[in-house]
Amino acid sequence: MKHLKHSQIAHLDRLLEDRNRELRQEIHALLLESDEAHHRDLAGMVSDIGDESIANMLTDLDAAFIDRHVHELHAVEDARQRLAAGIYGVCARCGQGIGYERLAAYPTAIRCFACEAQHEKTYAHEGTPTL
Ligand SMILES: [Zn+2]
Repeated sequence: MKHLKHSQIAHLDRLLEDRNRELRQEIHALLLESDEAHHRDLAGMVSDIGDESIANMLTDLDAAFIDRHVHELHAVEDARQRLAAGIYGVCARCGQGIGYERLAAYPTAIRCFACEAQHEKTYAHEGTPTL
């Protein structure tokens, strides 16, 4: 991530942190609204668990209504790990640095713009909400 300035990295880090918190709050609210006692128990854990991965904890949860949030939370947690490891913002396909503008718009992006376009052409059915 040599192509990113310190100030840019700090900004992206904050974006990810904010999104992480928002998603936890949304997941917490969704679980609380659930009719299942098991889900409401999980809601308490989601708010108590601190900064550890709750995406992993919820992955096995058989609840379509929360799936999209958990999926995104996973992506956010992965991005924060890459940031901490100093390998953030590098395209998974071509290895080039992903532009700051793209990362600011999609902090969880794992491919540069060109590779993402190619990927979407190849896997057109992915990433399209089925609802
Ligand atoms: Zn690329």
